[in-house]
Amino acid sequence: MKYFSLNDKNHKVSFEEAVVRGLAPGKALYFPEKIGALPKEFFQNLDKLSKEEIAYEAIKQFIDDEIDDDSLQQILKKTLDFDFPVVPISDKIGTLELFHGPTLAFKDVGAGFMAGCLGHFVKKGALGKITVLVATSGDTGGAVANGFLGVEGIDVVILYPKGKVSEIQEKQLTTLGQNITALEVNGNFDDCQDMVKKAFSDSEISEKRQLTSANSINVARWLPQMFYYFFAYKELAEKDMLAFSVPSGNFGNICAGMLAKKMGLPIAHFIASNNENNVVTRYLESRKYHPEPSVPTISNAMDVGNPSNFIRILELFNHEFKPLSKQLSSFSYSDNQTRNAIKEVKDKHNYVMDPHGAVGYLGLQEFLSENPEYYGVFLETAHPVKFLETVEGVIGAKVEIPVSIKDAMNRQKKSIEISDYSELKEYLIQ
Ligand SMILES: *Cc1c(COP(=O)(O)O)cnc(C)c1O
Repeated sequence: MKYFSLNDKNHKVSFEEAVVRGLAPGKALYFPEKIGALPKEFFQNLDKLSKEEIAYEAIKQFIDDEIDDDSLQQILKKTLDFDFPVVPISDKIGTLELFHGPTLAFKDVGAGFMAGCLGHFVKKGALGKITVLVATSGDTGGAVANGFLGVEGIDVVILYPKGKVSEIQEKQLTTLGQNITALEVNGNFDDCQDMVKKAFSDSEISEKRQLTSANSINVARWLPQMFYYFFAYKELAEKDMLAFSVPSGNFGNICAGMLAKKMGLPIAHFIASNNENNVVTRYLESRKYHPEPSVPTISNAMDVGNPSNFIRILELFNHEFKPLSKQLSSFSYSDNQTRNAIKEVKDKHNYVMDPHGAVGYLGLQEFLSENPEYYGVFLETAHPVKFLETVEGVIGAKVEIPVSIKDAMNRQKKSIEISDYSELKEYLIQ
């Protein structure tokens, strides 16, 4: 399978090159040259297949034989070594819990899969040493740190905005050591992301280090997110009209869902649920795409002013507004609405949502109120314990802390503070 640059359809690379480079020249994103539909029987027989078998069938066309079947199956087994349950909330609504991985974030799947692929390519020996450079608004950092920890031949450098990630998130990305370094940036997530993008086009850095990105722009992080939708469908196949509400920030997750649909997965509608960083909500209302600087919210992993992956969604629809707007709705909510939703669902259904899932719930509820013929699923993208203060404050009760988190909380934070690009550069070329 070849991947082309969304800036230049003639620039084509292999899967391996797309993974290693992260971004195409001119900071463009890679996109698969072909998206083949899977056979109908595959979808009819999902209940007879294991997670690993489903994932293998879904991802195989995007990798071809660049990774041998044994290795690919091993990578999938390791990456998907936890549950993805759909938990019913009411008659019409279920939640797909994506937080049962090692850092309690849905990003564990993308990060684990990418670490597996990159580790595989490095082991073959031709690449030399690689540095994964990544900006995080919260959960990416921990998931990437955990996924790459101890992978030979790969160093990981994580930029995160000082004071803008939760305590648990910070612990997860600053305490592992080994091949993982955390840079604490005086700025917001967009500043971190801009610095990372700049470093990629800086030739003085590329002379010293072979950089790649582990943000959701990397195809190896983006593509495996489609598995969630196959797994959920396996449990919900008897429902005719399925709508998925995805709490969205950089739009990698929802875009992977829409890719799964393009491959034939019978999902009828998608809802991009946003906090007040709502460039896509405004786009679908006005047809005008106006990125804005991000504003901080209690669902901080979605505080993204200019979502990188939205261009991939446009590409899936050949940049045609009408078909896209038929398949995708988008709503935006304030922190207060989000808090109220957490409280309402706890009181009514005895289910505790995290702030991101709560935004997803709100979007789903709004969509279903006008489209009652659907069964709706919202994605729970993080465990509520990762946003302990907010959630406990709202529900007025304690949230039980899983053991894995207790361990992280007792470890020592280690980070390097930086304020501007020159300091990042200095660190990378020292
Ligand atoms: C990253 C993240 C999101 C946003 O996902 P995108 O793929 O960037 O849209 C939502 N919720 C949580 C908890 C996250 O960590």
